[in-house]
Amino acid sequence: MARVLVIGAGVVGLAVADALATRGHDVVLCERHAAVGQETSSRNSEVLHAGLYYPPGSLKALLCVEGRERLVSFCRTEGVAHQWIGKAIVATDTEELPELAAIQTRAVACGAVPLQPMTRAELARRLPQVRAVAGLWSPGTGIVDSHGLMQRLLARLLRQDGVLLLGREVVEAELVPSGGFRVTLQGAAGREVDRFDAVVNAAGLLADRVARLMAPDPKAVPDVIPVKGSWFALAGPTPADALVYPVPAPHLLGLGVHLTVDRTGRARLGPDTQPATSLEDLRVDPSRAAAFLASAQRYLPGLRLQDLRPDTAGLRPKLAVDRFADFVVDERTSWGRPGWIDLLGIESPGLTASLAIGARVSAMV
Ligand SMILES: Cc1cc2nc3c(=O)[nH]c(=O)nc-3n(C[C@H](O)[C@H](O)[C@H](O)COP(=O)(O)OP(=O)(O)OC[C@H]3O[C@@H](n4cnc5c(N)ncnc54)[C@H](O)[C@@H]3O)c2cc1C
Repeated sequence: MARVLVIGAGVVGLAVADALATRGHDVVLCERHAAVGQETSSRNSEVLHAGLYYPPGSLKALLCVEGRERLVSFCRTEGVAHQWIGKAIVATDTEELPELAAIQTRAVACGAVPLQPMTRAELARRLPQVRAVAGLWSPGTGIVDSHGLMQRLLARLLRQDGVLLLGREVVEAELVPSGGFRVTLQGAAGREVDRFDAVVNAAGLLADRVARLMAPDPKAVPDVIPVKGSWFALAGPTPADALVYPVPAPHLLGLGVHLTVDRTGRARLGPDTQPATSLEDLRVDPSRAAAFLASAQRYLPGLRLQDLRPDTAGLRPKLAVDRFADFVVDERTSWGRPGWIDLLGIESPGLTASLAIGARVSAMV
């Protein structure tokens, strides 16, 4: 069995560490912050995606569908709160109907739980505050307690004698001639150097920098581009008891400003897509409320500006902003070293896919 370092204790690093420990490996999980899940894993919509939007056969499609299945049984057996509240994708204009049909075709090709077409009348009955000409109902979409999920993964790791090192940042790495990697961790008390047979880089927004520590040609590693997504919370009762998404416009980097409902019934609009000025750019600009309102009023005409309150923001670790870019979950990358596995571009549906990524990576070690 191998001694493995997992860098980054977001939901993906935790899922990888748990899967490796379950296979009997000796696992050390290190995190630069003082607690797990402080970055993207606690700044997302907590939606269990059904796998509707990604090119069939892509890792995003495969790992989303598989990850959702794995999460269903994990949440049941480990007691993680989740709810199958369902999602409506709504066309507000007849011009959007071809794209709605394309989503349905793609969902079938991706092996997602089948979508149910909704007529205008069915939408009016099921979601009376939503205005649309037609829609698709996704019964396979739900919401999950991402913090509860991360806490259960951590508890399982520690129960299997895995080690969690908090407040430790990986700052250097080198190949050991006899095999494995010598890694330097920076903590408050100074530097520690340790040797590992294998390393998994699950460093999220910083995964490109971590990959470059070991890549023979650092320029070959693609940049991780942070793309900001903000949310506005809605005051008062939620206008729908399901997730409501517009048909995504082709030029958008995200899925379009949508309505999400959390497990307490709190409704939010978002996330939008904006370039991030830095990795600390997490403040929600109140002046964006009017733009959010305009997007959401297309399908929720009853919303008013005074209902919107700036909420949180998160940063997507994107590998491209002008085209589809798949997850990178591989050690056979052009820049890689055998035994060093880089996970890059783990944006949405990374939460949904986390357990499938864990299973895939643990099979590579
Ligand atoms: C706006 C938005 C909405 C989203 N909505 C959804 C959704 O509804 N459903 C869904 O499935 N997915 C969603 N996602 C995607 C999902 O949140 C991410 O894919 C997932 O959280 C990525 O987890 P991670 O562990 O890879 O990254 P992170 O949570 O970012 O964890 C990486 C960790 O690595 C640590 N780290 C970095 N460098 C080092 C180092 N050198 N040494 C030690 N530690 C280091 C960081 O501190 C961090 O804790 C959303 C994302 C965003 C931004």
